[in-house]
Amino acid sequence: MNVNLVLLPGDGIGPEIVKVTAELLTLVAQKFGHEFKMESCHFGGIAIDVTGSPLPEETLKACLAADAVLLGAVGGPKWDQGGPRPEAGLLGLRKQMQLFANLRPILPNPELVSASPLRPERLVGVDFLVVRELTGGIYFGEPKERRQVNGLETAVDTMVYNTAEVERVSRYAFELARTRRKKLTSVDKANVLETSRLWRETVKRVAVDYPDVTLEHLLVDAAAMHLITRPASFDVIVTSNMFGDILTDEASVITGSIGNLPSASIGADKNRFGFPRGLYEPIHGSAPDIAGKGIANPVGTLLSAASLLRFSLGLEEEAVLIEKAVDETLKAGYRTADTAASGQASLNTQQFKAKIEEQIERIMAKTK
Ligand code: NAD
Repeated sequence: MNVNLVLLPGDGIGPEIVKVTAELLTLVAQKFGHEFKMESCHFGGIAIDVTGSPLPEETLKACLAADAVLLGAVGGPKWDQGGPRPEAGLLGLRKQMQLFANLRPILPNPELVSASPLRPERLVGVDFLVVRELTGGIYFGEPKERRQVNGLETAVDTMVYNTAEVERVSRYAFELARTRRKKLTSVDKANVLETSRLWRETVKRVAVDYPDVTLEHLLVDAAAMHLITRPASFDVIVTSNMFGDILTDEASVITGSIGNLPSASIGADKNRFGFPRGLYEPIHGSAPDIAGKGIANPVGTLLSAASLLRFSLGLEEEAVLIEKAVDETLKAGYRTADTAASGQASLNTQQFKAKIEEQIERIMAKTK
């Protein structure tokens, strides 16, 4: 397969983890006889420094033409002083690539259970996927402004959803539930919000096409509690943009390590291979406190690359190879500083990458 990928290394540790991931992707491509062409583009804070915009025209063009996009992270204190914000580039890219669904798998690694704030018995059987609507809702609704009302400075955000937006993301979530344990939890605030009542009605209507999937509805406040008290009861969760933003961060901490978690944002357009174009990125930020030290954990980015292979290229075997290599590396006891237990030795990014390379070679040699 000849594939065109765009890399957006971004800021802070972004370039460090994207470089390592690109090298490992090249190794996987070699093993399976693919050619992955990778073009790096400016995005985020670095793009503001170079061009004045967090999403330069050239970067946008490249992303829209690529088969899939891999992002490191954007932002940092340097761009917090006013002026254009790196995060604006991310919102713009989501809108332009029509990335309507963000997927965040929550599957605690057995090797890292001790890093979770939950008791180990609560983590038994936890394996769920949050599908967050990404291009609508209160983050994009208009008006979004400051105004004077009765002499008071007042701010307004607007939450808007239409049936087409809810149907698209819920249908995708039902399809994913079909490939898993066939349970879908739709999260809303239908006791208070009109958008949530439309959300719930629409999800119920879509459910008619999926009689094999069990559907439950939860209010977002209850969902926040159940994620902690009964996380193993979830299979697929579908929810709106803001609720998803908050719940996915809550869900991610129960796995114990922010550095290990991937995410995938699925686009409405198809690429040359008939798969959805997507943007793949770890869930963590640019970690300015450790940037440049060479100690960042590349696992979140690497697992995001595995999702890229699976969802945007249909390369399941290659995706599983990466996931297995990560698992085996952790099983063998190797850790980066963020996941090492106190007193446990840790590897830097390059050393950790070398261990994953060894596992890829070992797994490939075994399957021959
Ligand atoms: P962060 O995720 O960057 O860092 C939180 C903590 O986790 C830090 O101590 C950091 O060192 C550690 N950490 C995160 N990723 C790690 C990794 N791969 N390996 C080892 N340790 C890791 O969150 P923050 O400090 O709140 O944000 C820093 C910057 O990142 C901000 O400018 C924020 O706006 C931005 N941000 C960007 C994204 C994105 O690009 N999608 C997401 C979240 C935050």
